[in-house]
Amino acid sequence: MSQVLPDAAAAGTFDANAALAALDGVGTGRLLHVRELAGRAPRTAGWPDWVNPQVAAAIRGAGIDELWSHQRAVADMAWAGHHVVVSTGTASGKSLGYLLPTLSAVADGASAPTGRGATAIYLAPTKALAADQEARIRSFAVPDVRAAVLDGDTPTDERRWIRDHAALLLTNPDLLHQTLLPGHERWASFFRALRYVVIDECHVYKGVFGSHVAGVLRRLRRIARRYGAEPTFVLASATIASPGLHAEELTGLPVTEVTEDGSPRAPMTFALWEPGGKPGGNATGASDDSRRSAVAESADLMGALIRHGVQTLTFARSRVGVEVVAEMVRASLRYDGADSPGSVAAYRGGYLPEERRELENDLRTGVLRGLAATSALELGIDVSGLDAVLLAGWPGTHASLWQQAGRAGRSGRTSLVVLVAADDPLDTFLVHHPEAIFDRAIETATIDPANPFVLAPHVAAAAHELPVTEADSVYFGKTLRPVLDSLVSGTVLRRRPKGWFWARDDRPADHFSLRGGSDDDIRIVETRTARVLGTVDAARSHAAVHTGAVYLHQGRSHVVTELDLAATTAHVVVGDPGWSTVARSVSSFDIQQVEREKRWGAARLHFGTIRVRNQVTSFLRMLPSGEVIGEHPLQLPERELVTRGVWWTLAEEELLNVGVTADALPGALHAAEHASIGMLPLVAQSDRWDVGGVSTALHPDTELPTVVVYDGYPGGAGFAERAYDEAATWLMATRTAIASCGCPNGCPSCVQSPKCGNGNNPLDKTAAVIVLDRVLRDRAAD
Ligand SMILES: [Zn+2]
Ligand SMILES: [Zn+2]
Repeated sequence: MSQVLPDAAAAGTFDANAALAALDGVGTGRLLHVRELAGRAPRTAGWPDWVNPQVAAAIRGAGIDELWSHQRAVADMAWAGHHVVVSTGTASGKSLGYLLPTLSAVADGASAPTGRGATAIYLAPTKALAADQEARIRSFAVPDVRAAVLDGDTPTDERRWIRDHAALLLTNPDLLHQTLLPGHERWASFFRALRYVVIDECHVYKGVFGSHVAGVLRRLRRIARRYGAEPTFVLASATIASPGLHAEELTGLPVTEVTEDGSPRAPMTFALWEPGGKPGGNATGASDDSRRSAVAESADLMGALIRHGVQTLTFARSRVGVEVVAEMVRASLRYDGADSPGSVAAYRGGYLPEERRELENDLRTGVLRGLAATSALELGIDVSGLDAVLLAGWPGTHASLWQQAGRAGRSGRTSLVVLVAADDPLDTFLVHHPEAIFDRAIETATIDPANPFVLAPHVAAAAHELPVTEADSVYFGKTLRPVLDSLVSGTVLRRRPKGWFWARDDRPADHFSLRGGSDDDIRIVETRTARVLGTVDAARSHAAVHTGAVYLHQGRSHVVTELDLAATTAHVVVGDPGWSTVARSVSSFDIQQVEREKRWGAARLHFGTIRVRNQVTSFLRMLPSGEVIGEHPLQLPERELVTRGVWWTLAEEELLNVGVTADALPGALHAAEHASIGMLPLVAQSDRWDVGGVSTALHPDTELPTVVVYDGYPGGAGFAERAYDEAATWLMATRTAIASCGCPNGCPSCVQSPKCGNGNNPLDKTAAVIVLDRVLRDRAAD
């Protein structure tokens, strides 16, 4: 039986505070903080007179009569040939800023004798986004603008047409890397006319992936130059700190930033919510009275909002979480008969365009009352117009937070956003420190294009495209020569009088992918069907898919029957044995080079190159209650990782002076290490799995108590360096997160880590706070 719900939306009003009041007594938790964010009036600008008349007519025809001030600024700058990046809020119309100049150039160029006087490349991080943008451009129906999507699925004969005729190419960096650049001779006429390169959602290009994209863009500039073209780069980013700097690191060019948002913003009521239950279950966080999950709590809140007549979108961090939210809400609505259960959907991603349109339509018409989604929705469907957004756990970065929160609210009306804290140190810290959410500069997107592990394959690929000379250091930086020398000694390149040439029979692009993934990744093969389920990168494989491991793949439980390292394959069978597994390992590191150092009184902070050794030695089988039912030894080789790390040291006697005994020291350092890894995303766009840590009461190189946090990728990814730059902010927040957690002896919200190789032992929460206080005592401001 279903009843008609009161539809607040249809009535044309939405009272965010009334909706918030409806959450009173719902779930297990409590409302910690409410922040009213004021709206913003629009700033408009007229149309520039350089816009091609047909482009102007088409876009005005789509109902756009005025530009926001930032759109005009970006368009003018790009038209004048200045590289520019726009970084403004969700739904602020960033695309018009780059569409006006690119479409105008392409339309103007249609009258050239070749019919293709100007070309442009639009790069999106996903196929879906490129397809959406193409559909949008087609909907403008500008005569003479031939736009086409080129991705891995484009058939060969279509590729040929695109190569010879398309003027606006919508594609992704991977395809540039694998197809366009290696085959540049066939694309010569396209490159000769290249006027614009648009890089949309450029904040996504961070870490190792971002560094690889920077390599591709340098190769692109070099090839364009070969054909006499020097394209203007126009980048668009979600709100991040220093977008200009990020754009410059990506492209290697001077880039002007436009950050003043001229679009109007509706007021927003933003609430912070902490689930109930005691922080501090047992070591696995699985005891009955431990803190309730953000997912379950969000489902309760979502159900209450829907019952109150509020259409609600909930973001969860994982696909499993999304399914759980949708199922719990459906069940609760079914139980009280308030709604038909079908009116809450889970958005899984990977939909066809028609399916996405249908979902959008169901939301618009109110057939769907609720939707649960992962962040995949950030790049995909248009759901603007919902009244409330719930975030089940901190989405990882401020950029994602505002992007997801920005999904709430329709033209000019107040919206409600609720962040529900997950059970980890960063979430707990943030909901108790609203200023870190609302008043703090947002993160920068960190990349490191000079990482030799990233640079070398791109230099090799560049040599395959066109022999490299020393003059190419304008693209590849001052370390080009040593990189070339190492590629020659590795017989990848050969030196000849005219430069460095590719020396092998195969193609460099076959050897590496931009999104990680290399020859030694482990394939997960389902034994019964011989189907490949996916891959695990080599660095994580020993801990994740050792023989006997229970491995979750897309929410389904599998047991690894054999890890065959020689064949780089893990054989698995589907099934849930009723227990989970945790790998145990031993780690150590040595310092190869100190690159930067600062002193805080007796404490020292360093950044540099380290070599981490890690060996998985055994695994534990654990019941859902957290009870360990056995430890099983493993025979796996030691792995080595040369990477960049940030480490701090402090003499043992200094710690003794503040009451940390030799007995307490290992647990204190270990606890501080865990919490600082958990808090790193506050200053760098990383997540827990991007970085690792080691702590030791006596390190052979420093001869002191030492804690290191390092990038989990060969050569580094920029996270540790960011932590070094903002060490005071980072370690202060770490100290606060531990000190303010209400648990007695450490819990997942403060010092326990789900990926600890030592089974979260030893950990000393109280001593960790004393150690951090002492480290920070004489700190200099960053
Ligand atoms: Zn705790
Ligand atoms: Zn640990």
